[in-house]
This record gives sequence, C-alpha cells and structure tokens, in this order.
Amino acid sequence: MKFETLSIHAGQEPDPITGAVMTPIYQTSTYKQDGVGGLRGGYEYSRTGNPTRTALETCLAELEAGQFGLAYASGLAATDNVLRLFAPGDHILAGNDVYGGTFRLFECVFRSYGLDFSYADTTDLEQVTTNLRPNTRLIWLETPTNPLLRVSDISAIAKIARQRSNPPLLAVDNTFATPYLQRPLTLGADLVVHSTTKYLGGHSDVIGGAVIGADIQLRERLAFLQNAVGAVPGPLDCFLILRGIKTLAVRLDRQAENAAMIANLLAAHPKVAQVIYPFHPSHPQVELAHRQMRSGGGMISFILRGGETAARKVVKSTRIFALAESLGGVESLIELPAVMTHASVANSPLAVDPGLVRLSVGIEHIDDLLDDLESALIKVK
Ligand SMILES: *Cc1c(COP(=O)(O)O)cnc(C)c1O
Repeated sequence: MKFETLSIHAGQEPDPITGAVMTPIYQTSTYKQDGVGGLRGGYEYSRTGNPTRTALETCLAELEAGQFGLAYASGLAATDNVLRLFAPGDHILAGNDVYGGTFRLFECVFRSYGLDFSYADTTDLEQVTTNLRPNTRLIWLETPTNPLLRVSDISAIAKIARQRSNPPLLAVDNTFATPYLQRPLTLGADLVVHSTTKYLGGHSDVIGGAVIGADIQLRERLAFLQNAVGAVPGPLDCFLILRGIKTLAVRLDRQAENAAMIANLLAAHPKVAQVIYPFHPSHPQVELAHRQMRSGGGMISFILRGGETAARKVVKSTRIFALAESLGGVESLIELPAVMTHASVANSPLAVDPGLVRLSVGIEHIDDLLDDLESALIKVK
C-alpha cells in the first residue's frame, strides 16, 4: 500500500468489539487477568504496553518501512533510550548542527556517564570517515538539520559505517523530513528517531517521540529500556499523534508548496542576505536533497543583512507567523534560533548566527503568508 493509505490504516483496524472506526483511547493503567498471568490481549500494565500506543507504534513502523516502532513521551525521551544502548567508553559521532536539546542531552547528561561525543560536518563524507574511532558505536545524523537545513547523504554514510570492522549503528533523526519525504531505513540506517511533537502530530497540541528500527534484536533491547526507564506516552497523546499522521501527506504537500514560494520571495528580497531551503537552487546540497527527499519540506531559514537587530524586528512584526518555538504544525511559526530554540548551544561550536530567522511554514493561504512576510520586512532598516 502507498504512504497515504498506510498513514490512515496501518495499525488502525476498526475496533473488533464495537466497530469503532477510530482507534479507541484505552485510558487504563492495568488489565484484568484470567488467572495469574492469563493475559487476554497480551497487556498487563500500561507502562509496558497499551493498545492505543500499539496502534501508533505499528503505524510508525510501517510508515518508516521498519520492523518495529516504539513510542515515547517526547523526542528527547526517545533519543535518551537510544543512548542507553551504549556503555561507558563508547564513542558517538554526531552531526555538528544537531538539535540544541540533543546536544544538551549528549553533553550535559550522557557525557557524565562516560559516553564520549564528537561532532563533524556530516555533509562532508571525508569528515565522517576521519572522525570515526575504533570505539565509535553510533553515528547520529540529522538531515535536514535544525536550523541550517544541511542535507547529509544517508546511504553514503550507512555504507561508510558498514565498511568498518566493528560497524557502528547509524541513527537518523527524521523529525524535519518525516517518512513522507525520506525513509532512512530504506537507505541503510539502523534506527530512525522522531520528535512526533512536530510534523507527525502536526497540530502543535501534543509532545511525543518515537524510535523505529529494522532489526528485531534491537527491538528487544529498546523495548526493555522503554519499559525499564518508563518515559512512555499516555493513550490520549498516542491518539492525537495517530490522528495527526492521517493527514501528514496532504499537510506536508501544502507546506512544501508554500515554503518553495516563500523561499523564492526571500531569495529575491534586498534585505535578505541568504535563504536556506533544501530545494532552492542556491542550497549547497540541492542535488542530494532532490535525490533523497520527495520535497523540500516546510522549514526555511534565512539570514538578514541587518543582522540580529533586523532579525528581532522581523520576528516581532509578523501577524500570521506566530513567534514561537517548535515547528511542523498547520500554523506558520517564526523564531530566532540563536536566542530561542538553540540557546542551549550558545558559546559552543554549534552556536547559530544571531541574524538567522527560522520559519515553520503552515498550510494557510500562500497570499496571506507572502503578504505577512513582505510587510514585516518593510519595517526592517
Ligand atoms: C523538537 C526536536 C527534538 C526533540 O523533541 P521533543 O519532542 O521536543 O522532546 C529532537 N530533534 C529535532 C530535530 C527536533 O526538532
């Protein structure tokens, strides 16, 4: 079945008892047993498993072409579980432009437990190869990255990893692209991680995360950690993410269509120094982006000639684009990564240009979005 069909039906058979078309919200912590250990549906306690969560996990596994999916209370909880697969002394190579919260989790939490991290420009395959160490157990990739929208070659990096004598795992944070635009497992990655808070949920009303993988042995270890650590989502949150996923393809088609037009407007604007959009001809990896992704997605970054002062003016002057963190919802958002989403990487090598503005383009009418940005840019000196 095609993506659009799977997103509506995978894991979401009508309820066998009532025929309910929508997956019920199984708001229960525990399940009656028929005698000790006599589980009716395989469920015993909702930290370990819940039918609404199972529906979401099954759906995510199918959308990413994986063998399993696991849902978490947030994207960072999902990342946390992946990191717990490793032991003190292990090295993790990550992209030098990872999500600020991921960097904080690596540096301020896991480093003190003995994991070692280093960062490289993963758009440069040479740098990936030279930065691998004999004890590298994981390559952590984001593509496109947040907020610079750099695009890394997933299948080339998977190949580099596999050629090692003791191959590290390759995990891809697929939050920005979603499985609708790219499916890392089909390109050789071992794990896909999501903040389902963003495009998968799609309506800015829920926090969630997920890990999807191709190897059922990894499922055993991760499902153990999911239950042992306990950062699981509740059934209502799972329901909201499932409901969001049903419209992912139509939402993202409109978002990408709007974003491409906005990128053109910004690229031609005299007050804009640089526009960053994966499918814009000026993007350094535009050819790879076309090869790897179905569309350029809904995220755009741009740098103003007037620097931070101009950027601050723009983000407070738009009326439809709301000044807010997060991304991926149906409503358009605007923000200043250096002082908002990426404040946790300030003064680090991952620090963001203070004149860079990030847009999460929604599904409003394009004319209104273009007018809004043009009016805001007029106010900039
Ligand atoms: C938001 C985000 C995360 C973290 O997810 P939460 O749901 O906020 O914990 C991780 N990676 C990327 C790329 C993100 O945008």
